[in-house]
Amino acid sequence: MAVTDEMRAMVFEGPGRPLRAVTRAIPEPRPGQLLLRVRACGVCRTDLHLLDGEVPVADPPRILGHQIVATVEPGEERVGVPWLGWSCGECEPCRSGRENLCPRARFTGCDIDGGMAEYTVADERYCFPIPEGYPDEQAAPLLCAGLIGYRALRMCGDARRIGLYGFGAAAHIIAQVATWQGRRVFAFTRPGDTAAQAFALELGASWVGSSEKQPPEPLDAAIIFAPDGALVPLALSAVAPGGTVVCGGIHMSDIPSFPYRALWGERILRSVANLTRADAEEFLALAPEVPVSTHVRSYSLEDAGKALEDLRAGRFTGAAVITP
Ligand SMILES: [Zn+2]
Ligand SMILES: [Zn+2]
Repeated sequence: MAVTDEMRAMVFEGPGRPLRAVTRAIPEPRPGQLLLRVRACGVCRTDLHLLDGEVPVADPPRILGHQIVATVEPGEERVGVPWLGWSCGECEPCRSGRENLCPRARFTGCDIDGGMAEYTVADERYCFPIPEGYPDEQAAPLLCAGLIGYRALRMCGDARRIGLYGFGAAAHIIAQVATWQGRRVFAFTRPGDTAAQAFALELGASWVGSSEKQPPEPLDAAIIFAPDGALVPLALSAVAPGGTVVCGGIHMSDIPSFPYRALWGERILRSVANLTRADAEEFLALAPEVPVSTHVRSYSLEDAGKALEDLRAGRFTGAAVITP
């Protein structure tokens, strides 16, 4: 158990303001919640959307962080907490296994305090066992980049040739899963991002290039992880008739208008929202089978703001993880 009743945390105070280091009381779990000692917490592009005010944060000051690897106090049982942290269990989406669409859903590190702290509490229905063999830091990116990336990949059906736009934390995991499934990966990066292109080739991509380029052959599906709406018409023009384009992020800049013929030919354009518990169970069982290996850069808790700015500037490949 904790030796004191206080903990260190990084809090969001409002859009455009830097995260601030604070000391807070260790939270008390309510019925149905677990008290967790945070071992690692992944940083996600969604955190940048929260910082920038593009996705609203409930009742700041709020502790961000929604890729939490933690041990259940007291003890050593290891669990992971994802973005979706609570759902009502009563609405039509919840009763049909689509709690990702629950209108009352609460999100970790946004509506409820997250993992950029030494301790946190979480709804036990949204705590998932972490596969053995993954160190804490390597497991953290599985919880959002991995889970939501995997949901986006599932939306591509049995597509054999898959384009990934934006080769960050999610794409580096999903490229490994897709190639393991026997699909071919076409990785699109920011023009001139040779580091990300080399990284994609290392992870099994068949082709790499700038997002403004057309692939050498038509794709069966594409997933857009980068938050740039201008990629939507580009991705639609890269997929063959009947192909699917999945928008994997929570926020994207406006999509420019495009001619109907880009969608014509039964192309499908869709988004992926959040995750379900079934996604979490399925992906966390699959990851060690592939096995997915995650490339992480570690930061101290107090450097959470620096981790976010490095993510924004594209200063690392793979995923950033905070270790309290
Ligand atoms: Zn995320
Ligand atoms: Zn619900």
